[in-house]
Parts: sequence; C-alpha cells; structure tokens
Amino acid sequence: ATMPPLLSAIANAGRHGVLVKSAVVMERLAQVDAVALDKTGTLTEGTPRVTHIRPLTGCGLSKDELLRLAAAAEHPSEHPLARAIVDAARTRGLHIPAAEDFASTPGTGVTATVAGRKIAVGSSARLLDGGIHPATAVAAGLEEEGRTAVLVTADGTPVGALGIADRLREEAVGTVSALHELTGTAPVLVTGDNPRAAARLAAEAGIADVRAGLLPQDKVTAVQEMEQAGRKVLVVGDGVNDAPALAAAHTGIAMGRAGSDLALETADAVVVRDELAAIPVVVRLSRQARRLVA
Ligand code: ADP
Ligand code: MG
Repeated sequence: ATMPPLLSAIANAGRHGVLVKSAVVMERLAQVDAVALDKTGTLTEGTPRVTHIRPLTGCGLSKDELLRLAAAAEHPSEHPLARAIVDAARTRGLHIPAAEDFASTPGTGVTATVAGRKIAVGSSARLLDGGIHPATAVAAGLEEEGRTAVLVTADGTPVGALGIADRLREEAVGTVSALHELTGTAPVLVTGDNPRAAARLAAEAGIADVRAGLLPQDKVTAVQEMEQAGRKVLVVGDGVNDAPALAAAHTGIAMGRAGSDLALETADAVVVRDELAAIPVVVRLSRQARRLVA
C-alpha cells in the first residue's frame, strides 16, 4: 500500500531531524499562520558563556568567590545559564561547594543554601523587584552591552552580577524570514530575558516584535492574545519556562538537543537534530500533505 500523505510527511520530517508526534499534529502544523519564538536556546545556540564577573564594591567577595557561590547554587539546574556559570567556575579551576535546599523558579532563577548562606541567582529585574540598588546600575550596564545580567544575592543582599552572552544561531535569520514568508506574518520573540538583551538579539535575527521579561504564564498570555486575534500560533521553545506556552499554542515545537524534558514531553514535535532551519521545512511538508489529503 502507498503510505497515507500525513504519514509520509511524518517520515519526511524525520529525515529532516524533526520528530512529529502524530498525524493530527501534522494536520495542525499545516494550519499555523503565526509564529512565536523563544530566545535562549531557540534563536540562540543555547551554549551561553560568562563574559563578565562583577562583585559589588564593598561586598568583600573576589571574582572567583562570587562565581563559586553562583556555581554552587546553579549546579543542580538544567538551565543554559546555569550550565554557563558552572562551566565558567570549572574553567577557572574553582572547587564548587555543595549546596542544600535547591529550588528553581522558571523565568526567574534559583535559590540554594551554600556554606550557611542563602544564595539566589537570577534575573536582576525579578530579584531586585523594581527596587533601586547599586546592583541595578551594574546589571543595566551589562544589559546595555547586550548581555543577560544575572544577579547574585546572599541572604537577600546583592553581592554581584554576572554578564552572560549567547550567540544567535547561524540559521536564525534565514529561518525567521522563511517563517515570515510561509505564514504571511512577522514572527514574534517571547522571552524571559531583559528587554535590552532581547531587543538586541531580535534586531540581529530580523524580528521587530519583541515581548521581553515574560514569566512562563506571560508567554501563555501572549500566545492566547494572538489566538484571540484569530491566529493559529506555532510556538518554538526549549525550556521548562516554555512548556505552558507550548501546551497552549495551536502547535508547539521544542528544540531537542538542550531542551528540558518537560518541553520535549509537552511539545507536539521535537527538533532532534538541533537545526532551527528544519522548522520551515516541516511546515512546508505539512502543507503539501494537507493538499494531498484534501
Ligand atoms: P528565555 O525565555 O529567553 O528562554 P528564561 O525564561 O529561561 O529565558 O529566563 C529568563 C530570565 O530568568 C533569564 O534571562 C535570567 O535572568 C533568569 N533565569 C532563569 N533561570 C535562571 C537560572 N537558572 N539562573 C540564572 N538566571 C535564570
Ligand atoms: Mg529558552
């Protein structure tokens, strides 16, 4: 027997490194007319590096001590920023002490007890909660340079900031314009990162519509607003923080290589081979299959 069009489209998608979980997903994918892309790990390579280590003056910590505390707290986390911080500490040959009471809040950061001190590492906007502190200026300075500024606090007091940079994927610009052409709508960037770093990366990727500083639930709201305006939205993401939006979207695709288990389970399809450019290819395949079915 010849294979039904939707099934051969699934097989074809597999050849392009994309696991589409069902024929129904293939059908829904053919309907998408708008795209919301996550930043970290989706538009970017997802292998960020620590570029700046800034202990606050007067906190009594050296660069290595600041990095060591942050790495200890981040050690259990699977977030790309956490891996960057742990890698930076290892590269500097630092011993990373054990942490207790680890907890993570998607879209915000982590907390843990390190050597008897309560350490928090995460978004400066969230940890400072709009308050003004010398750390605000340090973080803003890093963000002006397009970095993700991660704040470190000890027992509630800011002690320093880390500047972290990630590179745009090589195929990001081509993918954004291919998706724009296919859907007739300019793709949107939805990110938990700060507006400055987000705007800078969006400009590089050719995206004009940027929604930054979003918590996981805000990403859902952004998608729901698009869907209420009559769009069938394809969400592409990789993190735990993307899972609710992947679930809420008409169709959700997760980036597989560094993607969190929750994102891979929640998404309707997974880019296994880590090539963003496979996404427009698969959208095209789904549409061809739909024409054959109809
Ligand atoms: P994105 O939506 O771009 O993938 P996330 O929602 O995962 O980003 O993270 C948003 C912001 O929250 C990060 O830019 C960072 O400031 C903070 N954050 C989240 N998780 C962590 C973590 N494990 N360590 C430090 N900061 C974190
Ligand atoms: Mg992400």
